[in-house]
Amino acid sequence: MTAAVLSFTAPAFAQYQTTAYRASILHFVADPAVSQTPYEYYEDGVLVVGTDGKVKAVGPANTVLNNYPYIQVVDYSGKILMPGFIDSHVHYPQTEMIASFGEQLLEWLNTYTFPTEQQFSNKTYAKGVAKTFINELVRNGTTTALVFGTVSPNSVDALFEEAQTRNMRLIAGKVMMDRNAPDYLLDTPASSYTDSKALIQKWHKNGRALYAVTPRFAPTSTPEQLTKAGQLLQEFPDVYMHTHLSENKGEIAWVQSLFPSSTGYLDVYNSFGLSRNRSVYAHGVHLRDDEFQSLAQTGSAIAFCPTSNMFLGSGLFNLQKAEQYGVKVGLGTDVGAGTSFNAFQTMNEAYKMTQLRKAFVDDPDTVNPLKAVKAYYLATLGAARALSLENQVGSFKIGNEADFVVINPNATDLLKFRMQKTTTIEDKLFVLQMLGDDRAIQNTYVMGKKQTVNGYGSGYYQYTYN
Ligand SMILES: [Zn+2]
Repeated sequence: MTAAVLSFTAPAFAQYQTTAYRASILHFVADPAVSQTPYEYYEDGVLVVGTDGKVKAVGPANTVLNNYPYIQVVDYSGKILMPGFIDSHVHYPQTEMIASFGEQLLEWLNTYTFPTEQQFSNKTYAKGVAKTFINELVRNGTTTALVFGTVSPNSVDALFEEAQTRNMRLIAGKVMMDRNAPDYLLDTPASSYTDSKALIQKWHKNGRALYAVTPRFAPTSTPEQLTKAGQLLQEFPDVYMHTHLSENKGEIAWVQSLFPSSTGYLDVYNSFGLSRNRSVYAHGVHLRDDEFQSLAQTGSAIAFCPTSNMFLGSGLFNLQKAEQYGVKVGLGTDVGAGTSFNAFQTMNEAYKMTQLRKAFVDDPDTVNPLKAVKAYYLATLGAARALSLENQVGSFKIGNEADFVVINPNATDLLKFRMQKTTTIEDKLFVLQMLGDDRAIQNTYVMGKKQTVNGYGSGYYQYTYN
């Protein structure tokens, strides 16, 4: 009798606690560059999330719901439900200087970036910006990001503390910078090592937080400091390495003059042991073939940041060459040189970049416009692979953490009007990529929990998603 009761109540109890989300569901299972069937799409689909915040099932509604007869169903019919977007490269301290006029990389750093970053030694100040930054991620459906802090360890504490209030999977690190910047922002090889190590021990794998050793870029670190960065990677083999690479031609020439014995920009990082899995290089706009090859061989990834590359006039990233060499690529916003936190707008610029390449850079016959499926791959599973997180986020693989976004394809009058003329999900994705923005993000979920966006520090800007 007792056994019979248990056998009846146990599964019912388990099902009661899980939640099903019914919508048009899309997620990637492979790179469209190498697979004819890179995604799964269920027009009337269900995503089942367990009480642990992880994916329990995904598939057609009629099939999946049969297996969960007592489940609570949240109905998002008519919406598109996807894994949360992943931002492979962004600077949270630059949130307040996004859209600053007129400069290219090196002048832009001196004119805008360094004075802004000085303020982050003040923890209270850093917390205020961190809150705004994470609100913007949520508002735009971004659930994971690889983030630059500033030289001050306070900047990293402030960001991780804020991310933990939402249980977000964030990767971040303190900038290492001991030359070619104002004195007020410099650390030393010794202090950057000690501070980074303390932050690793405090934050790496603390909840969903992960740490990235973060030399700003080769010109602002001495060989002694890059040696220390390599030492940290040796001592903590599963942390990340996050820096910039070959963004701008003036920068590349500067690196060559600072490291005259190197054979190129990437060679500088390679020579200090900084290239490996979980090494993420922002930009890579002007890489040579042998450098693409080296990135592939070491398992390093590129963060492709089209709005930033266009904004600073840095150049046109060669995505097809990265594909040819098998280099991992994720999409990044690079705010504040990037001009939007929004993945649709970032994919929009990525598409236009391939059109410009076709027109101006390459043999036109060798360049294809970026397909929507590839763009969304780069913003989800591709980015997760670039960050070696594909077993945690980026797709609805069973057991993955249920970070997801609910997209309203009819969010604006123009979207609604244009969507009437679409027939396939790929058409809809492309229209969203061109016309969508944060208004199309109806809800953002982190570990199965619906997020709200509150408080811009001053309390001036407050709303909650409905
Ligand atoms: Zn950057």
